[in-house]
Amino acid sequence: MTVKIFDTTLRDGEQSPGVSLNAEEKLRIARQLAKLNVDVIEAGFPVASQGDFQAVQKIAREVEGPIIAALARTNFEDIDRAWEAIKDSSNPRIHTFIATSPIHMEFKLKKSPAEVLENAVKAVKRAKGYTEDVEFSAEDASRSERDFLCKIFQAVIEAGATTINIPDTVGYATPGEFGELVGYVCENVSNIDQAEVSVHCHNDLGMGVANSIAAVENGATQVECAVNGIGERAGNAALEEIALALNTRHDYYNQKTALNLQEIYRTSRLVSQLTGMDIQFNKAVVGKNAFAHEAGIHQDGVIKERTTYEIMDAKTIGLKENRIVMGKHSGRHAFRDRLAEMGYDLDREELNHCFKRFKELADRKGELTGLDLEAIVEDQFGQSPELLQLKLLQVVTGNGISTATVHMLKEGEKMLESVCSEGGPIDAAYEAINRVAGLDCRLDIFKIDAITGGKDALGNVTVKVEHEEELFLGRGVSTDIIKASAVAYNNALNKIMAAKSRKGR
Ligand SMILES: [Zn+2]
Repeated sequence: MTVKIFDTTLRDGEQSPGVSLNAEEKLRIARQLAKLNVDVIEAGFPVASQGDFQAVQKIAREVEGPIIAALARTNFEDIDRAWEAIKDSSNPRIHTFIATSPIHMEFKLKKSPAEVLENAVKAVKRAKGYTEDVEFSAEDASRSERDFLCKIFQAVIEAGATTINIPDTVGYATPGEFGELVGYVCENVSNIDQAEVSVHCHNDLGMGVANSIAAVENGATQVECAVNGIGERAGNAALEEIALALNTRHDYYNQKTALNLQEIYRTSRLVSQLTGMDIQFNKAVVGKNAFAHEAGIHQDGVIKERTTYEIMDAKTIGLKENRIVMGKHSGRHAFRDRLAEMGYDLDREELNHCFKRFKELADRKGELTGLDLEAIVEDQFGQSPELLQLKLLQVVTGNGISTATVHMLKEGEKMLESVCSEGGPIDAAYEAINRVAGLDCRLDIFKIDAITGGKDALGNVTVKVEHEEELFLGRGVSTDIIKASAVAYNNALNKIMAAKSRKGR
């Protein structure tokens, strides 16, 4: 049996507190999800905002392979808007939902069960007028009355729904109970054979993955999940954990997915970088320590025979050993081939730019690893057209005082600024860049980490800068952390300027 993977990283995942992705970033994640070969990409909630609509539309137009789903409440405005956004996809799906639990119907919707049922059926019919592929979710299903749940599923399938979804919206269910609920629905909805049975589990009690898998054991054929388990509150069931549980314990579950597991690690890193959400070190499957052994006895065992202490092979998820792959004598062809092997397909200009960066770095570091190359390419993708160019940065620091001098081009015009600050070298550099940029913005998040080990490691700086209540992500990579910090900040400011010019302000 094959379980379908419905990825909601770009919809529920993007609702994580503090996360805000722009259309370009969402498109990059969607492309990577297509490489990972998920069955469905839930691209967003088009009626929520103009930005959300445009991102969904872009993905629907440009990403081939997976079904592209858009979320809508049951009112017609939502459904029409969802359709408008996804209609150019070759595999569009409208996903409509309404709450079915007594507490939600009474307090949130102020509707009777009969009205909720009527709305659900009307919504599915409306969606069906646009596309064959319609999913219906009974929000807060795990706290709904079972017989009402069955009744509403029966009715929406009759109206044309091709997938029915049973969400544990608030992360309240336990595996035994939730599996039983799914089994009950499968048994008591007489036309259930005409629809896929989906589940959507949240992780408030740390049981999102366990509940999803219990559901699969009881008849669910689709699971909704998010990369790195991001999402509202404690997040959604983690895609990579479900995938690896089914894969590693195929002997027990006898289920598989269509995922290209080799892309798991890269997808996880990309989502973490673009959302700015770190992955906890001990996170299952993709955490930094997931394949690390500390105890001598374990290390000894693994060296003698890997499977003594490892139930999964790091290579399965595309996490290869961090070995040296290129040096300063490597040529352009070798560089391009190596990137192609890693799954990067760059156009001429991108390749030129990356190769130049590679040469500079190789001159300094001597030898580069796969992770270094990845950082160079990711850095290149993250750059906006440079309205603001940082040509030179000089920072002098000591005795609690730092002076930063920047030489920049702002829309082609040369500008020089010097700032003296008691706030440290990065603060001084940022203030100097601010003076040139002349934007009203505030640094929200600043994060620095090393890409590889060793004292010549590349410093990787991620910043989030707030401008008019919107967050802009910037990244910078360099062996010099002050420079990486300035580049990251400049990168975010460029995105702000690009967004402003798009809006024509
Ligand atoms: Zn959710």
